Amino acid sequence: MRTEKILVVEDEDDALTRTRQVLEDDGYTVTTAKNGLDALMQIADHQPDLVVLDINLDEGEGNSPTMDGIEVLREMRKESDACVLMLTTTSISYVKVAALTMGADDYLTKPFDPKELTARVQAILRRAKGTARGSDTLEFEGLSIDPGARIVLKNGEDVKLTPIEFDLLLALARRPGQVIGRSQLISQAWNFKYAGDERLVDVHMGRLRKKLEDDTSKPRLIMTVWGKGYRFEGVAASHSG
Ligand code: CA
Repeated sequence: MRTEKILVVEDEDDALTRTRQVLEDDGYTVTTAKNGLDALMQIADHQPDLVVLDINLDEGEGNSPTMDGIEVLREMRKESDACVLMLTTTSISYVKVAALTMGADDYLTKPFDPKELTARVQAILRRAKGTARGSDTLEFEGLSIDPGARIVLKNGEDVKLTPIEFDLLLALARRPGQVIGRSQLISQAWNFKYAGDERLVDVHMGRLRKKLEDDTSKPRLIMTVWGKGYRFEGVAASHSG
């Protein structure tokens, strides 16, 4: 039995039943909602760990005008940081990009293999666990970061980082795959509003890379996003449980 709670939001009965069954069989506690308003109320009341959210909710009853999955996502993000797996019926990329931009963790195109659903759900929840604030060690392939003890291990070897380097790494690693701007990194690593030169971040980032990357000319962990900031590309370590 798993401890995570999942809310499935789907207006079509058959699809709702199927999706719930797959997740219950995998050990989750599942609640359901058939329209956007009900979904938002349940998110507020039950605080699910993850929401499986269908993008088309046209047939939902008692909800006029009908809210689609994207609107539900936008509304729920004002209050909730629950993980979201969007279900789409289309492979149109702008729909997926919109969902991800508005805070969905992943998407799945219908019809889907039940195994694919449980695999995505497990991956999202595992990632969320590893990146939650104040949680234990962040585990990536070849890299582990212990925020409490402030220890970084690269392939099991202790890496000596300055406090600033450590805090920069932590700020990035807590939000893998997301671009984080220099000013944001400064406020997190220096812990105050730094009014000086943002290139200071680049200097520290260069030193951090020398300590972490196998080849600093081809970084694989810390990517520069020109004109925007940096992005951590560590791959979440796969381990059972
Ligand atoms: Ca639907």
